[in-house]
Order: sequence, then C-alpha cells, then structure tokens
Amino acid sequence: MRKIYLVGFLGSLVAGAILFKNFNQSSSNEKGLELIVEDSISVYDLPEPTESQKDSIRRSFERIADLQEKRFGIKHPELPKVIFRPKEDKIPKSKIGLYYTSSNEVWVKKNEDGYIAHELAHELANKLSQSLGRGTWPPKSLDGFFYKILKWWGLYDGEEGTKLVSEGIATYFERGTFRDPKVLFYAPNDSFWFHLKKQENGSHDLAYTNFERYLRETRAGEYDLGYALVRPILNKDLEEGIELLMKNPPTNKDFRDLLAYRDRILRMMEEH
Ligand SMILES: [Zn+2]
Repeated sequence: MRKIYLVGFLGSLVAGAILFKNFNQSSSNEKGLELIVEDSISVYDLPEPTESQKDSIRRSFERIADLQEKRFGIKHPELPKVIFRPKEDKIPKSKIGLYYTSSNEVWVKKNEDGYIAHELAHELANKLSQSLGRGTWPPKSLDGFFYKILKWWGLYDGEEGTKLVSEGIATYFERGTFRDPKVLFYAPNDSFWFHLKKQENGSHDLAYTNFERYLRETRAGEYDLGYALVRPILNKDLEEGIELLMKNPPTNKDFRDLLAYRDRILRMMEEH
C-alpha cells in the first residue's frame, strides 16, 4: 500500500512540476495580493480616472497615511506608488484594491477611505517584514498545480494562515483608522455578528474555534474572521503583534483551534 502511495505521490510531483513550469512561463506579470479566482473582469473594461480624479486619489493616500500615523502612533514608510489600472489582465469583479509587494504599487477601484486604509496596512506590514530582513510579506505564493498537489499531500503549510492574518491586520487598520481600533467593529446588520459570542466583560469574540466551521456557516472569509482573530494581539502591541503574526502564521493544525493559536501568540508577547 505504501508503495502505491509513493508511486502516486512521485507521479503527481512530476506532473505538477511540468505544469508548474508552464504556469511560470505564462505568468510574466506580478500578481497583486488578494487575487483569487472567481467571476472576473478584464482590467481594460475598468474606467480610467481623469487627471483630477487621479490627483484626488493620491491626496487621499497621503491624508489616510497621516491619519493612521496619528491614530496608531506609527510611522509610514515612503508611500506606495498609486497606479490606475491593475497589473493583471483580469481581476475578480469584487476586487476593490490591490497592493503589489515587490514593486510597492497600489491600485484602488474607488477613492474610498476604507479601501485606502486597508491597502496602506498591507504596505506597512510588507515594509516591516523587509526591514526585518525577511523579504516581502506575504511572500510570493507557490502558484498553480504544483502547489495544489503539495497541499493535497499535506506537505505545504502556512500560506492560508498567512493570508488569514494578513487580511486580518489590513481589516484592523481599515476599521480602526476611523474609530477606536480596540473595539471590535462590524457594519450594522452584518451577519457575522451572529457568529460571535458575548464575553463576560461585554465585548464580543469568536464563537467557534474551527476555521472550517466559520467558512461553512458564515460567508465571511479571511477578512472578517482574520480581523476578529488578530485584534486582541494588535491591541496589545501593534508592531510586536504584526511581527509575531508574520513569523508564526497559523498552521493547518492551528485552523482547528484558532483561539488556542491566538492564546499562544499572546503568551509569546508576555514572555518578551
Ligand atoms: Zn487585503
């Protein structure tokens, strides 16, 4: 039996390697963060902003960056270059902003404070990672079939966890820039509320520990869940929290008990 597994594994590895190579050759463009496969739109069908709209978007980035510096007591590195068309040929229709970690470029669909606050947080985390000598963050993902095969075999871990905490951090900034970041915030009537539990101190927290259950029972993705997960960590110490989340993203095993994962990170902060 073991032999059959091994042959199957080696076969899929070879097939994966061939497909991976082809994938690499065809994708010359850098892919932006958050790109997922769903109903997509050609970027050439997106309206091009006028020159005055472009100026206004650039000014919004400066204004929100200033606001974040005051609100969170942080210093933004040099701001990303604002681009007015995504670098991919197609993007998911639902995409509202993209940040490119290698080229430090950013695109937003609309001149909207929340979108800008979110993308600026991705930039902040990316620059923090680079200043620690750890390269871009999130790191470039393994693309295509090769990655899928490794995942099927349980040999690749950490990318989903990184996505969860990366979007959690960005959502923390998206919401916390315009209100008290320490207080958990969901839009009124947000269905995610039903999947939170009221704590003894009156605040709300995740009701289930299992990530799959959240995906099954809510339509929330990494954004809402990641936010609820990382908020207590970032409330405790923003920069140290981001650093620890980067260095210790949830593993596949942690996805079965995210609250235990969070407790572990909080304990690491105590020990520092
Ligand atoms: Zn994001």
